[in-house]
Amino acid sequence: ATARPSTLVIFGASGDLAKRKLLPAIYELGREKLLPEKFALVGYARSEMSDEAFRAEFKQAVEKFARSSKSSVDQTLLQRILSAVYYHQGDYGSAEAHAALATKLEDIDKKHGTEGNRLFYLSTPPETFEPIIENLGKYTAGFGRRAGDVGEVKTDSWKRIIIEKPFGIDLPSAKELNSQLHRHFKESQVFRIDHYLGKETVQNLMVLRFANSIFEPIWNYKYIDHVQITVSETLGVGSRGGYYDKSGATRDMIQNHMFQLMALVAMEPPASLDAVSIRDEKTKVYKSVRPIRPEAVDQFTVRAQYTAGEHAGQKSDGYLKEKGVPADSKTETFAAMKLFIDNWRWSGTPFYLRTGKFLDEKLSEIVVRFRSPPLTLFQKQCDSPVYPNDLIIRVQPEEGIEWRINGKVPGGTMNIKPVNLDFFYKTTFNVEPPEAYERLIYDAMLGDQTLFIRGDEVEAAWAVIDPIQEGWRKSKLAPRTYTPGSWGPKESMQLIELDGRRWLHSGDGEAEPIV
Ligand code: NAP
Repeated sequence: ATARPSTLVIFGASGDLAKRKLLPAIYELGREKLLPEKFALVGYARSEMSDEAFRAEFKQAVEKFARSSKSSVDQTLLQRILSAVYYHQGDYGSAEAHAALATKLEDIDKKHGTEGNRLFYLSTPPETFEPIIENLGKYTAGFGRRAGDVGEVKTDSWKRIIIEKPFGIDLPSAKELNSQLHRHFKESQVFRIDHYLGKETVQNLMVLRFANSIFEPIWNYKYIDHVQITVSETLGVGSRGGYYDKSGATRDMIQNHMFQLMALVAMEPPASLDAVSIRDEKTKVYKSVRPIRPEAVDQFTVRAQYTAGEHAGQKSDGYLKEKGVPADSKTETFAAMKLFIDNWRWSGTPFYLRTGKFLDEKLSEIVVRFRSPPLTLFQKQCDSPVYPNDLIIRVQPEEGIEWRINGKVPGGTMNIKPVNLDFFYKTTFNVEPPEAYERLIYDAMLGDQTLFIRGDEVEAAWAVIDPIQEGWRKSKLAPRTYTPGSWGPKESMQLIELDGRRWLHSGDGEAEPIV
């Protein structure tokens, strides 16, 4: 499909995300011939900058961060894109700046033929969302200013808004943000981003499950023992302690990225691949999660903070000593939880989730662990234990899928070892998978909401998290501790091991399969 002529306005254009991801993504879309011929971009931020200075930043960002820049930048294409790039300086809540933006966008429509189609990308801290939305509603995009008001532009032009995470910090704040958005935009204009959904492997989850006939018949509590989802980072909070302390691992990772992964693993087959059907099914998963009562929080969850240590080239005196973190902070840098999805498919099958900073390895993966075969057959003759089958879906660092099956070790004795059947995007398709933001910005230009979070979906996800946060606030147990470079506190191991299971990565000598 081809996107229609349009202007992308990036709020927070001077920021880190714009430089590392958004501006390079625009260049890559150009390279893939997915940008409309008539396309303009306006960077909006408070910093003083001329159009020229912003173009220079854009160019630098592409040269440094674009995924294809290693094989050299196409300067002709870049110059063509830059010729329709502008900068707009202003406070996010300033009526004058927004009124001036509206005028600038009309001029751009005339000059570049962008037909009044506008995509607003809010890449700013969450406290600016409200003033930006209010002003957009008033001056440029809301119900009050339909396309026909804007000079000579076509009357069927569209206005869409992309919102970065975090979408609220709990259910009440997410509801408030939703209702504020809905005062100015229809739900079909709102694109809540979760960049995990832009990753190839994550989209491939649906293909894996629903375009193959071998998985669905066994994709349930009868054959799957449990599911593990791990998102681990190797660095501590560094200089971002003040910002991180307001959020914590659960809000930062679990409520959004990890819940998306869980929903795609657990959901029922959608009636079709459209945005309504898929998002209906994901929302049903969140609504089926058995609530963790605040009083039971310490039975089903673990929260922890890292202590002093050094890992991955970073040194720390411990989370509580980080700059900007109060000495009595209870904010978790690690969280693990055991959730149940109370429906016919998953009855009694635990979903174990864990995430943390300063852990051994950086990875994001889903492990679907199947039930063990009747062990007695081989166990008597084998020296090594027979491992259950794992289907491992790797989202990071190497996108791909891995099957662990048991194989016979060549030789006269009956020895069994786990072996891997691997599929890596890079080697199989011989391409670097596109950056998530490329796909997502492109989809938003097309108006396809499938890979974005719907308003009721984000609320259903918070409804699972809120009682856990309440339980932690009331709990007499202090956050547990773990050393940088480990796989988290021992209580996270106990959460799963007391059920007779193990994390795939636990740093205590899981038999490595033969690759
Ligand atoms: P950032 O660099 O901290 O902020 C973006 C821009 O917003 C800054 O250049 C600054 O521009 C303005 N800004 C910063 N603090 C502000 C404040 N207190 N009040 C008003 N304006 C302020 O953030 P980012 O890393 O680019 O991320 C942007 C958004 O994406 C955030 O909502 C973040 O949560 C989300 N996000 C980021 C990442 C990531 O990898 N960085 C990943 C996922 C989501 P001016 O001072 O020039 O106005």
